[in-house]
Amino acid sequence: MNIRETNYWLETVFDRVQGARDSLPETADVAIVGAGFCGLSAARQLAKRGVSVAVLEAETVGWGASCRNGGMVLTGMKLPVPTLMARYGRDAVRKMYAASLESIDLVERIVKEEGIDCGFSRCGHLEVACKASHFAAYAEAAARVQREFGHELRIIPKNELHAEIGSAIYYGGLVDESSAGVNPAQYVAGLAKAAQRAGACLVEQTRVIGVKAESANGNRRFRLSTSRGALLAQEVLLASGAYTTSATPVLRKKVIPIGSYIVATEVLPADLAGELSPRNRMIYDSKHFLYYYRLTPDKRMLFGGRAAFFPESQNTVRTSAELLRQGMIDVYPQLRETKVEFVWGGTLDFTFDVMPHCGKLDGMHFALGFAGHGVAAATWMGAKLAGVICGDPDDNPFSRISFPSAPIGLRSGNTWALPLAGMYYRVLDYFT
Ligand SMILES: Cc1cc2nc3c(=O)[nH]c(=O)nc-3n(C[C@H](O)[C@H](O)[C@H](O)COP(=O)(O)OP(=O)(O)OC[C@H]3O[C@@H](n4cnc5c(N)ncnc54)[C@H](O)[C@@H]3O)c2cc1C
Repeated sequence: MNIRETNYWLETVFDRVQGARDSLPETADVAIVGAGFCGLSAARQLAKRGVSVAVLEAETVGWGASCRNGGMVLTGMKLPVPTLMARYGRDAVRKMYAASLESIDLVERIVKEEGIDCGFSRCGHLEVACKASHFAAYAEAAARVQREFGHELRIIPKNELHAEIGSAIYYGGLVDESSAGVNPAQYVAGLAKAAQRAGACLVEQTRVIGVKAESANGNRRFRLSTSRGALLAQEVLLASGAYTTSATPVLRKKVIPIGSYIVATEVLPADLAGELSPRNRMIYDSKHFLYYYRLTPDKRMLFGGRAAFFPESQNTVRTSAELLRQGMIDVYPQLRETKVEFVWGGTLDFTFDVMPHCGKLDGMHFALGFAGHGVAAATWMGAKLAGVICGDPDDNPFSRISFPSAPIGLRSGNTWALPLAGMYYRVLDYFT
């Protein structure tokens, strides 16, 4: 295979962010670590409210998960509703679900208000059942979502599935019309420009090495040491996601970085693209070790999955290409002769309870744990945290739940246990 080991989405960003390498300011009201959806959404909102804000990014704008993902702007959360209800109770989960719907509206609103050309489209998502038992559970899941949240999901029996997907391997599907698709690299670039226009200072190639609280004239402030000097800030927001390092150990020990990989084919003939995904849905399957896939706006098949559990490296990216191509052909035998042109990987920010979290740690604001739902959720969480920093009441349901740390042995970025987790989920997929 002659495949380019590069992120396809980046090839589509022609209007790059300018002026984000200027010098580091000496002070800011708020310093944000990380220029992904979360940090940039917060920066945009803070700057619009007249707060001076500096976004410090170790690499380039959107370099982390935010430009590498599948661009699926999804409703719902990672965990099933009954698990959530049992853990947090009905009231809290209703607020969480409402937040997940609101987060898609927010992305739509930002795209419209800021004129971001990123192909945002409410095309809906389709979950496909890999087993008869998975399909049987859809009816109860849809009824519960309708009852608890007043939100409609549509069940698609196997004999009607051809109108949704050109694959014969599934037992049925579940459609949510509220979800959307986006080109994530164009979206994150547009979000960065919107934050800049509002007055935020973006500083790329600036790695935060440590953050210390200190007191000046009886007031607390933070000193951030970076690869380009120091910055003093009244407030700090950690929006470093799965790429969080030991520069902020208090957050590092709370995140599990898990690799996810994507291939993109050559551009498909229009009739073949229409056959594979007649309604242009964002699609994922019902397994724990799942595949997610969609057509790109220029009609490539973009096919992703957790081909390796480790965060991306040249080795994992290379081996994922063939594994994912094989998975794609299992779903769509029509693509057997189709060339895969791109492969890339990224790291997901899982937490130990598989939930998103936000709040304060050591006096610093933070948000992470979006896993595979971060396009909308990280945008929403960033905007919410900006409000809290400005003094708005904190009505965020995710700031009220407890946030478990890694067990000892998995702290400080040690990922030795990830293949075990991978094996565990494969076994679970076999038996459930
Ligand atoms: C392959 C893949 C597919 C995905 N698919 C989807 C999908 O289809 N739909 C969906 O909703 N979600 C998806 N996700 C998840 C989604 O992309 C993330 O949840 C979301 O982008 C997280 O945004 P963020 O701003 O929190 O973090 P990121 O975008 O990861 O940004 C964090 C930034 O912080 C920077 N940083 C870290 N430490 C420092 C430091 N010390 N100093 C300075 N900068 C630092 C990093 O360089 C990075 O750019 C996917 C993720 C991956 C990897």
